Amino acid sequence: MTQSRTIPLLLVEDNPADVRLIQEMIAKGGSAPFVLSVASCVSDALQQVLTDRFAVLLLDLGLPDSQGLDTLSRMRAHALGIPIVVLTGLDDEELALQALHEGAQDYIVKGQISGPTLTRILHYAMERKQAEETLRRSKEIAEAADRSKSEFLATMSHELRSPLGVIFGYLEMLLEGEFGPLSAEQHDALQRIDQNARGLFALISDVLDFNQLENGRLPIRIQPVRVSEMLATINYETQSLQKLSGLTFNWRSDPEVPLLYTDPGKLQVIIKNLFTNAVKFTLTGQITVHASTCNGGVEIVVCDTGIGIPTEQQERIFAAFHQVHNAPSRYGGVGLGLYIVRRFVEALGGRVTLKSQVGNGSTFRVWLPLSSADAVQASAPAEQEGKSG
Ligand code: ADP
Repeated sequence: MTQSRTIPLLLVEDNPADVRLIQEMIAKGGSAPFVLSVASCVSDALQQVLTDRFAVLLLDLGLPDSQGLDTLSRMRAHALGIPIVVLTGLDDEELALQALHEGAQDYIVKGQISGPTLTRILHYAMERKQAEETLRRSKEIAEAADRSKSEFLATMSHELRSPLGVIFGYLEMLLEGEFGPLSAEQHDALQRIDQNARGLFALISDVLDFNQLENGRLPIRIQPVRVSEMLATINYETQSLQKLSGLTFNWRSDPEVPLLYTDPGKLQVIIKNLFTNAVKFTLTGQITVHASTCNGGVEIVVCDTGIGIPTEQQERIFAAFHQVHNAPSRYGGVGLGLYIVRRFVEALGGRVTLKSQVGNGSTFRVWLPLSSADAVQASAPAEQEGKSG
């Protein structure tokens, strides 16, 4: 606070003796240039607050037209941003403490302080209020920036995914020979394009999913899902990745696996993320994806013979942006895959577990209930609306 400017202070007090005392204390308060206005009841004070700009309020809680904390809340509602220091009698300290909880900056016990202490308390109250306001504004700015970032990410992710859909369409036609026969070299080149485009698509999808999770929006759409068909689809969509990896693949779904009532989009992301990780972190050997009936639900196991994960990292890898291995990475990644896997599995009422040994591979097990409807019902209503993904 600059000492040269005058500081308009409103004293809300109905006792003339107390008013006179405060006036004298302010006058003897030293360098503080307070300019004092007086209101003797809340309605008068509210009127003055409407017409004049006060830097600080000194408020007695017991007034002819209002008592106790009610006085404070009425003043706070109209004197937004103005620090309030409560004036209290000796026997009212309990009430004064409650007033602090309700947003008063400080309190003064009548007859217990000197002029310089009063002005110091008023200055501190103004400083604190200003610091609070600065914090509040910074928070608002940060929240607005966060909202813009989320909106930008959502728009960008959609815009980036659409052209990739067209790329996949043409790639598929080319690979199927619909534009004429391909040499082995051409076929190999197209598979590499396909693999990289799918890696990019998965990355963009992860960012979009992460953005939704961070915003607490996780729309879930329950549908009947035949797990064997889903595994066949993922197997088909990851053909380029599989062929270029040089690994052996084993896709199995036990015949008795029942129909699941779950969100197919989310389940596909779960399996794909685990599967692509298995390929990324396996140099030789095989990868198995196996669905079976288990504990009244369905278990999907993704097992690899890859480099494995150290025990102390096995919990941490499920955190957002956490990565253990920078290499060997066939196509990057940002450390969102497993975070999304766990959040999606939990949203569907299931759980994911990991067993791994460095040098001996990793096994991720996803267990899901036969119906995720209960889990969805238990979650926030907002999460049940709209379309998935
Ligand atoms: P990303 O794969 O994008 O790095 P993830 O969240 O999917 O992110 O995985 C986090 C980290 O966990 C990976 O960077 C890797 O270090 C480790 N990881 C995940 N799956 C496996 C696996 N099957 N084998 C070995 N390490 C793995």
